[in-house]
Amino acid sequence: MNQAQQAIQGADPAAFLPFTSPSTNTLNHMRERMQHTGQWSPKQMAGRRWTVACVSLEITQRCNLDCTLCYLSESAEAVRDFPLEEVFRRIDLIAEHYGPGTDVQVSGGEPTLRKRAELVAIVARLATKGLRPALLTNGIKASRELLIELTQAGLMDVAFHVDTTQQRAGCACEADLNPLRLDYINRARGLPISVFFNTTVHARNFDDVAMLSAFFVAHADVVRFASFQLQAETGRGVLGQRTELIANDSVAQRLKQGARTDLKFNVLQTGHHDCNRSAVMLVVNGQAFDAFEDAAFVQRFMRETANLQIDRGTPWRAVRSLLAAGLANPSLTVAALRWGAGLLWRMKGPLVRGRGRVHKLTLFTHNFMDACHLQTDRVQACVFMAITQNGPLSMCAYNAKRDQYLLKPLTTSKGEWQPLAVDSTVVARFPIKWLKGRSREAALHARQTHLDSNQTAAVP
Ligand code: SF4
Repeated sequence: MNQAQQAIQGADPAAFLPFTSPSTNTLNHMRERMQHTGQWSPKQMAGRRWTVACVSLEITQRCNLDCTLCYLSESAEAVRDFPLEEVFRRIDLIAEHYGPGTDVQVSGGEPTLRKRAELVAIVARLATKGLRPALLTNGIKASRELLIELTQAGLMDVAFHVDTTQQRAGCACEADLNPLRLDYINRARGLPISVFFNTTVHARNFDDVAMLSAFFVAHADVVRFASFQLQAETGRGVLGQRTELIANDSVAQRLKQGARTDLKFNVLQTGHHDCNRSAVMLVVNGQAFDAFEDAAFVQRFMRETANLQIDRGTPWRAVRSLLAAGLANPSLTVAALRWGAGLLWRMKGPLVRGRGRVHKLTLFTHNFMDACHLQTDRVQACVFMAITQNGPLSMCAYNAKRDQYLLKPLTTSKGEWQPLAVDSTVVARFPIKWLKGRSREAALHARQTHLDSNQTAAVP
């Protein structure tokens, strides 16, 4: 560990607290954080192109799965869904802190367990505020009808979390889950939303990463973004710490193998270098091409169009804003034409065979930290925030001490609201069928020990 990478113990406690008052210039605020942590460079997007990459809005703590790497706390199943009034207040906080156009991930627990009318109202409220709502779901209850209703309410993206940590019946390896992934792809096909997939990488599926990369390339007509999140010891999940095998670069290497092209990762940087890797490709007739091969041009384009608002939801508006930017900057336009011509030449064969259809796919690795080994500089440079009742907080810092926020009573217009349906001491005595993660494992172990000791006592 280098000097900048202090563990939470002994570090400045303020670094691990939510931002309570919005900055008057959020872009500058993010830029200063990048500069302070040594992450500011010509390829840095945070503080240049956007104020934050994403904010997570948890609308329930309940879940209908029990992942072996779940980030929720042991008390999650006992925490009531906080009132809609409080969800709306947090949406206002996000808008105040980061401004319009911010990506907000509606998550949980499993967000589709919230009352359907409330989920739709939350998405509509985000859209009304000018934010970009995304739904992070395990897909079990995300029917096509629900996706249509949410799209009509303003949903922009859906991220399906599917992997072997979820212990879905009959799925021993990642390949067994591909029919389910395909089912989810078909549910979203044709809707005006971008489709993402999230995969947690752990020791037992590390060797499947290349296969998954190839799968997403093969379905790039619908899938826009595939995120690979590295195993971290945080929350109630039972798997614990990762092995050294699992790291941003080793996963990126596997992704490259699966895409069967020499992708350049981190041509553009998203926050702290140790937090993630990303690569962008164009897929033509099933063949992947690195969209960022000309790194110098891509970085220049990002810098010189940093203030440009690109409407990612409507392609023709995106093209219109890019054309307007081109007219205002002729030398950039010439460079862009040269870049485009080079790309077209590389893709010419598949372009002809694929009748000109080109799909963009981003591969991403996300390196969440262990709860007991938070690094101050990464938390300070965090670009993936969770919104708490007090304001936005780095997701890694939030995961490390969720109950400090979740178990606090909230003030509402109807008086004080209590988060627990039962006394917290009762949670530990829940029936096994209600327990998840480590508490469930401990209860099963205790029951087995009890049964074994009874059997031994019964032997004459
Ligand atoms: S959530 Fe953690 S891993 Fe992700 S950007 Fe923030 S500090 Fe980095």
